[in-house]
Formats: sequence, C-alpha cells, structure tokens
Amino acid sequence: MKFVPEKKPIYEETLDSLTEKLVEMNEKPFRAKQVIEWLYKKRVGSWDEMTNLPKTLRSKLSEQFEIAPAKQILTKQSGDITDKLLLQLGDGSLIETVIIRVPQEGVGLEHSRKTVCISTQVGCAFGCRFCASGLDGWKRNLSTGEIVAQLLQVCFLEDARTPRARPEIPSFDNIVVMGMGEPLANYDNLLAALKIINADWGLNFGARRITVSTSGVVPQIKRLAEEPFQFRLAISLHGATNEVREQIMPINKRWPLEELLPAAKLFSQKQGRMLTLEYILIEEVNDQLEQAEHLADIANDLRAHVNLIPYNTVEGLPWKRPGIPRQDRFVSILKEQGVSVTIRREKGHEIDAACGQLRLRTEKELQTAK
Ligand code: SF4
Repeated sequence: MKFVPEKKPIYEETLDSLTEKLVEMNEKPFRAKQVIEWLYKKRVGSWDEMTNLPKTLRSKLSEQFEIAPAKQILTKQSGDITDKLLLQLGDGSLIETVIIRVPQEGVGLEHSRKTVCISTQVGCAFGCRFCASGLDGWKRNLSTGEIVAQLLQVCFLEDARTPRARPEIPSFDNIVVMGMGEPLANYDNLLAALKIINADWGLNFGARRITVSTSGVVPQIKRLAEEPFQFRLAISLHGATNEVREQIMPINKRWPLEELLPAAKLFSQKQGRMLTLEYILIEEVNDQLEQAEHLADIANDLRAHVNLIPYNTVEGLPWKRPGIPRQDRFVSILKEQGVSVTIRREKGHEIDAACGQLRLRTEKELQTAK
C-alpha cells in the first residue's frame, strides 16, 4: 500500500532538488539555501517563521510542500531515561520515535548522551516473534520525508527543553534505525533520508554515528556494503544455530545463517567497521550454554561486538526473561572466549518501549473510543 500525500514533504528535498524546483517556480536559486537553513539549522516548524523569505514565496511553498508530515500526538517519559514520541502521519498511521538517555558519571541527565531510535515502516512484515511491531502486519513504507521528520520532531522537543549555545547542531549523539519496520526492506527511502541527515547542508550528522539494524535481509546487506558511507550495521541474530534462530526469526528460513554470515563478513570487510550482533536472551529458548558457545564462534569469526538484551515481556507472547544468574552465565561464556560483549538491561520497560507496543496500545484505545 502506498500513501500519496496531497503535498510533497519538504524534508524529501535535497539542496539541489529544491534549487531546481525554485528555479522552475521562477524564483532565485539562492532561496533554496535559505529554506534549507531554516529547516535544518534554525529548525523552524512553519513557513511563517522563515522571515527572510518574501510572503509570496512562503505562500507558494506552503501550497506545494508539507512542512509537518508527522505530528506529535503523545510523549511518554520513563524516569528521565527514555522518551517515547508517538507520531501521527498524514494518513492517520502511527509511528514511534524513541529518545534514550545514557547516564554518565559526573554529568546531569540533561547533559547525558542521547540516542534517537527511528522507524522506517508502518507495521512490519517480518514477524520476529519477540516484537510487537509485526503483530498487526505491514501497512506501508515510510517516505524519505517521514523518516527525516522524526528527527526534526525530536529536535523540536529537545530544543524547547534545553536551549543550547550551538542550536544548529542537533542535541543527540547517535541515531539507531531500529524502531518499527525492517529498515533494509525500505532501502531507497532510508538511504535518501540518511543522505539528508548526513549532508552538511542538512542535519550534518556523521555517518559513523548512525546504526542501521536489520533482521538479516541478505541482498540489501550486500548492497549497503558497497555504499560510499560508513554507517554502522547491527544484525538481529537472536539465535546462534538455524534451528534456534528459526523459532524466533522467520526470516531465517529465507536467509539462513550460511547466507547471512558471509554477507555480514562482506559488509565488515568492505566498510572496515565493527558489526554489532543483537541477541535477545529468552529463557530456555536461546540462552543455553551451547548457544553461547556457537555465538562466541560467530562473533569471533566476524570480529563483531555482541549486545545482549534480556527479553522484554510482550503482551500476548509466552516467553520469559531469564533470571540474572542465567544472564550472567551467558555473558561469562562469551567473555571467556574473548568476545566483546555488553548486556543492556532494558531501559523504558515501563513505558512500552519494546518496539511497537505503544503504537499498538494507542491504536486499540483509538478503535475502542470510536
Ligand atoms: S524486530 Fe524489526 S524486523 Fe523484526 S518484526 Fe520487529 S520491526 Fe520487524
């Protein structure tokens, strides 16, 4: 299903494409640079605020372009650590964008490092069994403008909270493309959005601070390996043998480990970047000793970092989070084999931070209210 908005989101335009369009509208080319500066450096959310543009041009722009393809309808906060933004798109679809703060020693939370997690699709077709995003299936891909707009919405929220000495630089430190949807199944729109986010005239956000997370779409991992950017790649592994991974990730039937792991290796060789393997620990499903040993072999072969995430309960699913001793035992085996490993005890658990949960809950509430 494709949503065609009445007006084109302005956040889809590059400096070059906007210059061309303004020239077609009989405007001076330098106006494009002014518009782009208002969007990405001064970060205003309306045409009226672009005060150095003539009123006639603002009115022409507002007739052709949408400046707000995503509206914030709800913000949920969890103990100052996680903010979850529920955004409504032009067709009424809901998506989630999350801000995660990582507390650091000696620094107040307002100055802590921030990671923004963005979505790339409405719903998801991949059906990973731990994930709420896939429960209602896939609805559509997000457009380039809708992907970029999520970061602008975060900027609006953060800019209003903490005025900064250099407001032209976004206040967050990392972007992870790990929200709702499989990013590599929306490859072209995602890449176009990341180019705008990375461009010096755009958000000027370094590619090395952007992580794309995939469930393992092998052809697109190979394609990403050839791109001239240095994005980071995280692979949702969640099982260290085909037998176990298949129980958790249906995609493993399409692209099993013997296809996924060589593609991952190609990416890390071509890009010269350390991969991350994401591994959700689920009691007696994938947290056994043999799985830890197989995972250590895979991580050592790929020279990958392993990020362990104890399972987050999802309404309607039967699995359990292992207790701390089982989690610690799994970590020790990896460490003994020389693997670089972190365990991320879930942040934002109490605000439905597992991907897709807030959206599902709000959609149900909206349907009940009708
Ligand atoms: S984890 Fe990602 S790819 Fe898997 S169902 Fe959820 S959103 Fe889709």
